[in-house]
Amino acid sequence: MSVWTPLSSANGLAGGLNTERLDPEQLQTLHDVLQTLKPVLEPQQQNGTAILLTWDQLYAPLAAPQRAFLDAFRSLDAQALGSTAHHFGELTAAPEVVPVGQQMLHQDQVSQPLPPQYLPRDVLQAYSSMMDAMQQQLGKRLYVESGYRSPAYQLYLFLGYLSNHDYSIRETNRYVALPGHSEHGYPPRQAIDFINQQGISGENHPEEFEALPEYGWLQQHARDFGFFLSYPRNNASNTAFEPWHWHYEPPQEPPGRRQ
Ligand SMILES: [Zn+2]
Repeated sequence: MSVWTPLSSANGLAGGLNTERLDPEQLQTLHDVLQTLKPVLEPQQQNGTAILLTWDQLYAPLAAPQRAFLDAFRSLDAQALGSTAHHFGELTAAPEVVPVGQQMLHQDQVSQPLPPQYLPRDVLQAYSSMMDAMQQQLGKRLYVESGYRSPAYQLYLFLGYLSNHDYSIRETNRYVALPGHSEHGYPPRQAIDFINQQGISGENHPEEFEALPEYGWLQQHARDFGFFLSYPRNNASNTAFEPWHWHYEPPQEPPGRRQ
């Protein structure tokens, strides 16, 4: 049973949030929220369960004004921020995701475990087949740096990234999706952020990932496994170029097969 009720987003005022730059009162609330949540979520981030965070878990430690502040973010529409990022919404039922068992091998032959990641079962299967093929043809694999992220965790990430973009919601939204707008939180179009065996993920330097032979291989073969680059260079959605971010679209049934 839910312990909170989201505010209506019908007023269209984005909950009074100043999207160009949070005003001083909103900044104070943001700091209060992050200060309250950080000690609660840090252990969960360390043991890898934070990415499955539910709304109830996110709201539980917060006072009423802080919950209202989060509600205001949840009612934001990316399109009103000058983005054409698609609004996927949220699934009503908790999605079924399974752990991606994986290790990352560094060049010095020291094996270092990656933080736990989760994917819907069909996406994990498609990813595994794709990596088997890449291994066979290229002698390399890519690992899952980020798979499924719950919308509640997506909001927590978004709040944390605001400080990197001068507390502008509009600017932050170019780099981090708002909840309900991320392919990471929407299993029917599940995204994976890849990282290679040497730990190159492209974050901060997309061209480093773009230059990888693994990226070249994906460009040639990923679609055969149902994976597509979501944000190419100069994409129409005003989202930054993300060569590491690919989403899965289940193959269509051939027409006329079910007669
Ligand atoms: Zn991503």
